Parts: sequence; structure tokens; C-alpha cells
Amino acid sequence: MDDVMIVGAGPVGLMLAGELALAGLRPIVLDKRPEPSELPKANGLAGQIVELLGHRGLLGDLAEGSGFAGPAPGFPFGQVPLRFAGHDDMPLRLLLIQQPRLERLLTERAARLGAEIRRGHEVLGLAQDEEGVTLELSTGRARARYVVGCDGGHSTVRALAGIGFPGTTDDEVLRLGHFARDEQGPFQAPRVEGLEPGWNRTPAGRLLLTSLRPGVLIAGVRERGTLPGGPVTPDDFRAAVRRVIGRDLPLGEPIWLSGTVAQARLAERYRAGRVFLAGDAAHLFPAGGSALNVGLTEAANLAWKLAAVLLGRVPAGLLDTYEEERRPVAARALAQTRAQAALERAPGQDGDALRALLAEPPADVLLVRPDGYVAWAGTGGLAEAARAWFSAGPAAVRASPA
Ligand SMILES: Cc1cc2nc3c(=O)[nH]c(=O)nc-3n(C[C@H](O)[C@H](O)[C@H](O)COP(=O)(O)OP(=O)(O)OC[C@H]3O[C@@H](n4cnc5c(N)ncnc54)[C@H](O)[C@@H]3O)c2cc1C
Repeated sequence: MDDVMIVGAGPVGLMLAGELALAGLRPIVLDKRPEPSELPKANGLAGQIVELLGHRGLLGDLAEGSGFAGPAPGFPFGQVPLRFAGHDDMPLRLLLIQQPRLERLLTERAARLGAEIRRGHEVLGLAQDEEGVTLELSTGRARARYVVGCDGGHSTVRALAGIGFPGTTDDEVLRLGHFARDEQGPFQAPRVEGLEPGWNRTPAGRLLLTSLRPGVLIAGVRERGTLPGGPVTPDDFRAAVRRVIGRDLPLGEPIWLSGTVAQARLAERYRAGRVFLAGDAAHLFPAGGSALNVGLTEAANLAWKLAAVLLGRVPAGLLDTYEEERRPVAARALAQTRAQAALERAPGQDGDALRALLAEPPADVLLVRPDGYVAWAGTGGLAEAARAWFSAGPAAVRASPA
């Protein structure tokens, strides 16, 4: 019997395989796809995982060719730009990397350390007893002492293990597309007349125009409604753009089109007997930027515990701490991303006022006139304000901390 079988060769399953192999096991990863996915899903990693990958000596390879790697200069919290510039000790790290490249590097690492990745095997059934777990595959049968479902939001392992996945499904749909642009000269944010780079709001929905690499425009359309039964086509995408901004756009040749509906869900349990969940199989967040951080750090948390138990170093009770430690983290990320989604969607002038107020930079210093009027608030330009109001330098005025 094998020690650990991981279902799903997405980023989380691959990370888990690498970590287990690093700890001395020979895990097996099963994936139903015959080939690795080339879908351009995540554009980067943010948070604790960046530091952890640094501890593993992987940041050099991952950051090669990256548009950005380092302390985050800011974060779009529900489209409210949080600015961290000037905070040299900012602990939030950011690494821009396309998901297919991340998966390639994690695959190479896992294989180099001794994990085995078997593609073209779909898990269809699961049964467990006191000794281990038996998986029914599209290609036969497999057995291991522990199974980890890293098989994404529609997790078969989660369903077969009888773990509920409560939460909500958004009433808005998002169409996302990458378009080839004929660009010359240095890389620039996309410019389309009458529209801003980033998100543009209209009464009918929201349109995103951005780019993360030269020659590729990323466009997104959010609106209430449903997605087509089949794949999103160029015509369907164009029609959605027209509904939201009332005109056509010169987007360019489509490279990749997709349609998604955001969900906010958290697995009721992270463990059922000898079966564990990690990554999107355990949680889906309704706003971007957190999923890989939470999922990959789950993999790191579970791996050393499984290895320590399987290598006979600690009692199996240690495995209970996986859910105890990690589910509250995902619950917190779910609350954060629900708040972001609510902030982003708040409609009309009320929503505009909410976002504008929250986007105001905090004032480090206030300049208060003798009549109580706040003559100046901020982090720069104090001397100028003092001269304007008092015809004197800042030494002559009372500056009070905010
Ligand atoms: C457009 C888009 C943009 C995103 N941007 C970001 C971002 O910037 N930052 C971020 O952190 N996250 C982002 N995400 C989310 C991120 O892509 C996911 O969180 C991540 O892919 C989850 O990884 P995973 O390994 O848990 O699952 P998945 O990547 O879904 O992998 C699951 C794997 O399991 C396999 N599988 C499924 N069922 C079975 C079965 N029955 N038998 C065998 N194999 C099976 C699948 O073939 C797949 O390979 C984005 C997602 C999308 C769609």
C-alpha cells in the first residue's frame, strides 16, 4: 500500500507532493487531465506563501522573468487601492507569476524530489477502512494509507468523503479574456478612449482593462445574468461588452476566453477519517488574490504532519491540528474576500461614496489652526501649508499626531 495519494495536480497538489517528498515520503499524484493545464488563471502569489517559498530556496526560479517580486506596494481591496508605499517593513510580499509557469516549476520540484505524477487517471469512487483508502479510478484501482483531495472547487474527493461545502453563489457573472495586441515600443497600460485602465463602472456592470505583459490585453466584463451553456465565444464576449458600456471595443485577437461565477464556500471539515482536503477543494473565495496563498500554505502545513506520522515519529493525533490550524485561516480569508466583494459591488452613488472614503490615504500629521480648522492633513507639504496659513515655517506651528 502506498503512503499518500494526492488527487489533483493543480498548484496545491503539486506543492503538497513536493513538501511530502522533501520530508522523505514518495507521494503519488493522480490527475484526470492527460496534460498539465495551460489556463492563465492566477497571475501571482501574495502573502505568507511568498516567504515560505523563499525559505525553500525557490524564489529565485519563481521570480525569474516576473513583473514584480518584493514587498507589496499596494493591494486592491475590493477595488479600493490600499497603498503601502513608504512602509519599508511591509510584511505582505507579492510575486507576479502566471499559474501555468508556477505549476511547471512545482511539477519539476516534486518530480526531482521523488514524487510520482500520474496523469489521465480520474477518481470516480472512494472507500476507507481502518488501514487505508481505496480509490476507484477510470483506469483501475489504487490504495494508500492517506488520501488528500486537491481536486479543485468541484472536488469529487470532497463529495465522496461526505464533506459539505456550504456557502453562496454570486448573482453576477464574469467573462474574462486575453487578447493579442499589436504593440510597439515600451510596455504600457491599455488606453482606450473614454475608458480608464482598471475597472470602469456603468449602470449595467463593470469593465476591466489591464495588462500584465507586453502584447496581451486582459479584459473582464462583470454583469448580472447567466453564462452561455458552452464555452464563451468571441461573439458572446463582444455582446457582453456592448451591454455594459453601450459600444464595441477594439480588443484585438482573442487568445483565451472564459466565464466564471464567483462562489463563497468553506468545507464543513478538512478531514474525514483518512481523507483530507486542501486548496480550492476546501474553500472558494469571492474575490481574488488569496486562494493560492491559503491553499499552498495548507499544503505546507499538512505535509510535514503526514510525513511525521507516516515515518512513525509522532502519534497520529497530530493530524487533527491540520484542521484546527488551517480552517480558521480560510474562514478569515472568506470573510475578507466577502467584504471585498461587497465593497466592489456596492452600486450607485452610495457605493461610489463608500469606495472614495475608504480610498482616502490616512493622515499621519494634522495642522490645526487656532480656530480648530484642520488646515492640512497628510504626510508631505507641511512646510508649504504652514507658510500659507501662518507665514512661517513648521517650527512656528503646532503639528499634532492624527
Ligand atoms: C481567472 C482566474 C484568476 C485567478 N487569479 C488568482 C490570483 O491572482 N491569485 C490567486 O491566489 N488565485 C487566483 N485564482 C484561483 C486559483 O487559480 C485557484 O485557487 C487554484 O487553481 C487552486 O488550485 P488547486 O490546486 O486547489 O485546484 P485546481 O487548480 O483546480 O486543480 C485541481 C486539479 O484536480 C484535477 N481533478 C479534478 N477532479 C479530479 C478527479 N476526479 N480525479 C483526478 N483529478 C481531478 C483537475 O484536473 C486539476 O488539475 C484565479 C482563478 C481564476 C479562475
